[in-house]
Amino acid sequence: MKSRAEPDPPAASLVNPGGAAPLLLVCEHASNHIPARYHALGLPPAALQRHIAWDIGAAALAGRLAALLDAPLVLSGYSRLLIDCNRPPGVPSSIPARSEATDIPGNQALPAAAAAEREALFFTPFQQQVAAMLPGRRWLLGVHSFTPVFLGAARPWQAGVLYGAATDFGAALIAGLRADPALTVGDNEPYRIEPEMDFTVPVHGDARGIPAALIEVRQDLLGSPAGIESWALRLAGVIRPLLR
Ligand SMILES: [Zn+2]
Repeated sequence: MKSRAEPDPPAASLVNPGGAAPLLLVCEHASNHIPARYHALGLPPAALQRHIAWDIGAAALAGRLAALLDAPLVLSGYSRLLIDCNRPPGVPSSIPARSEATDIPGNQALPAAAAAEREALFFTPFQQQVAAMLPGRRWLLGVHSFTPVFLGAARPWQAGVLYGAATDFGAALIAGLRADPALTVGDNEPYRIEPEMDFTVPVHGDARGIPAALIEVRQDLLGSPAGIESWALRLAGVIRPLLR
């Protein structure tokens, strides 16, 4: 009998925890997993394969970067539709009632106790794991992917770098990527770090004085193992010289 459901994963899992690099990698949107008791938040299965549920290709890219750079990596275990590990709890995008153009039935008028339960189960353990891995690290990098088209508008960038206080780190990452003239690289695009609406960069990085940024890669470029490998090699080549 194969009817038993897969067990639910931990809220945070560690890859290469003994990595020697002075860099911590995180992947806040690594997983689209939603435990069965949430009934997929009322969404059809296809919706859970879309960007609204996770960052397609990001976990695999982050895993290869962890290996190439010998850096530890913290992966989230659950879909951002349950609670977003890169948003402060309580803001509207933390447990989105609507994501892009899709209403999330299971997030409508969510009772405070249910929101608190999701925070305790899926958000807090992830943040505790990130915080536990930071001592001794001098850089923090989140690995993300973004959709080629957002609300009908095509995005021109292949990759983007998002940062707040760490302007030198952000500029160095952007310069490294722009060394390839074929690339259009977003500078705080396709998203902008907002201290009140973001979590990893302002809380784990900027507030601790640890240079922090998010790398965003367009998800169609991560649609095959060859694409992921190519971007992992490219990013490792940009990041490695900065870790001195
Ligand atoms: Zn993301």
